[in-house]
Amino acid sequence: MLNIALFGPPGSGKGTQSKFIINKYHLVYISTGDILREQISLQTALGIQAKQLIDHGHLVPDELVVQLIEDKLNNGGNANGFLFDGFPRTCSQAEILEQILKKRHMNLNAMVSLEVPQTELVQRLLDRASVQGRSDDTKEVIEARFKEYASKTMPVIDFYKSLNKYHPVDGVGSLEDIFARIQQVIDNI
Ligand code: AMP
Repeated sequence: MLNIALFGPPGSGKGTQSKFIINKYHLVYISTGDILREQISLQTALGIQAKQLIDHGHLVPDELVVQLIEDKLNNGGNANGFLFDGFPRTCSQAEILEQILKKRHMNLNAMVSLEVPQTELVQRLLDRASVQGRSDDTKEVIEARFKEYASKTMPVIDFYKSLNKYHPVDGVGSLEDIFARIQQVIDNI
């Protein structure tokens, strides 16, 4: 079984590279951002609560996100493995992920971190805003998301460094080149 967490700041290309990774390695895709947006469009109680936070660039509480992950793992069937996109985003989520995988006799093989300079990230997000129209891709909300990322998400890197699972990948270049770098990491774990 191959379980990977794809990590990186907003705009680092996690969603795009995820598609390549799940196709090549036949993994079940779990994106907490996508699940939350689905809950918002369905106007569930969770979705309504999450929307307030997402639209202000804040993270959704750990308990909510962990519950979503557990539901997905329980429905994963005989998966070859899982690709987590945008999860874990806090040290607490990372610790809980280790526990819930262990409980299922599974293990996270690697945390692949897409590294992109901040100036390029902002431009990519503003470009995406004009194409996809995501409500959290405005200039003010992007700034708030980066603040959350710096204070709550960056420390997750040290957590995985301490477990020898942290694999930085240069996230600048053509989609094919970036995917080639990711494959090099995955094929060598
Ligand atoms: P994303 O599509 O991954 O950029 O996620 C969009 C938004 O959903 C984030 O800015 C957060 O508000 C929320 N979100 C997604 N994943 C998580 C997570 N693992 N923990 C907390 N909030 C999350």
